[in-house]
Amino acid sequence: MTVTSSALPMLLADVEVVSVRRLGPTFVRVELGGPALADFGVDGPRWDQRIKLVLPDPVTGGMTSTEGADETWLATWLDRPAAERGHMRTYTIRDVRGSGEQTTFVVDMVLHLEGDLVGPGSTWAAQAAPGDRIVVLAPRRGFPYGGIEFTPAPGADLLLVGDETAVPAVCTVLEQLPDDARGTVFLEVPTAGDVQEVRRPAGVDVVWLAREGEELGVGLHDAVVAHLGIPGARVEVAPDEVDPDLWETPYYSSSGEEVAGKTGGTEGTYAWIAGESKVVTGLRRHLVKELGFDRSRVAFMGYWRRGVAMRS
Ligand SMILES: Cc1cc2nc3c(=O)[nH]c(=O)nc-3n(C[C@H](O)[C@H](O)[C@H](O)COP(=O)(O)OP(=O)(O)OC[C@H]3O[C@@H](n4cnc5c(N)ncnc54)[C@H](O)[C@@H]3O)c2cc1C
Repeated sequence: MTVTSSALPMLLADVEVVSVRRLGPTFVRVELGGPALADFGVDGPRWDQRIKLVLPDPVTGGMTSTEGADETWLATWLDRPAAERGHMRTYTIRDVRGSGEQTTFVVDMVLHLEGDLVGPGSTWAAQAAPGDRIVVLAPRRGFPYGGIEFTPAPGADLLLVGDETAVPAVCTVLEQLPDDARGTVFLEVPTAGDVQEVRRPAGVDVVWLAREGEELGVGLHDAVVAHLGIPGARVEVAPDEVDPDLWETPYYSSSGEEVAGKTGGTEGTYAWIAGESKVVTGLRRHLVKELGFDRSRVAFMGYWRRGVAMRS
């Protein structure tokens, strides 16, 4: 049974896994479908549109229901123990296929193969099979939802940087860029087997960096700093200086800094950087402190924090 609530300004839907495909050692591509997705819609390009998945608790299998959901659903859900209600995590819509009640979402989910700690998201992705059920929270056509942070001025020179968790967002952005877009993309993935073929405009260079067991983010940091021509040593970021919820965009600042509230113009570079929070913090210091990047031209986003489970 697919249950959704048309009373809500977003899509809250119980959907089914339609297909699962392993893209490489690290990525699992999951396609989700259900009649409720007929109401999905975003005004304009989806860019890096994020959604929420509600995943079962890995130990108890506890899962949520959307039955009878109204505007109190989230508060009621959060009040319940995680073992009963499952966990909410953030993902990117990698693709939307079909139309009407045949609409499906594609989500590329990272398996945490490098550390000892796995979470409900990667646990679920590793076992996902057609017929499994999951709850999604996503934009409903005709209602504001937010969740898009890629906001360059048209024609701006682009710098897109991410680790494996941002690969789905960056690849989706690349596929939607106009043919005359220009810029450079750096993507760090665990192994060379994770490199993906992706459509890109001729003026956008895409550089894939495979970690192959090296320290997370070091190759990415060095490549970006070299690209920007910043001399000198790597910036050290102490663990207690890292905000796991780092989110600095022209429209929001997790550190409470004054925000521009608008996107900068076409002159100069627009930087969109997402990944592990400590790595993103290090890059942010270079761009903001040494290069004086304008707040209206940057989006620095901690997509995950090593050793810290994301909050539901
Ligand atoms: C806007 C946005 C979009 C995102 N899009 C995607 C996406 O499309 N695909 C995707 O896979 N992720 C995406 N993420 C990242 C994802 O939400 C996090 O990686 C999340 O922590 C995964 O939840 P989990 O339950 O697997 O792990 P959690 O329960 O949050 O964490 C458990 C443990 O796993 C570790 N961990 C978390 N993520 C990773 C990782 N990638 N590699 C190694 N260890 C990890 C944590 O440090 C912690 O120790 C996105 C995040 C944001 C904010």
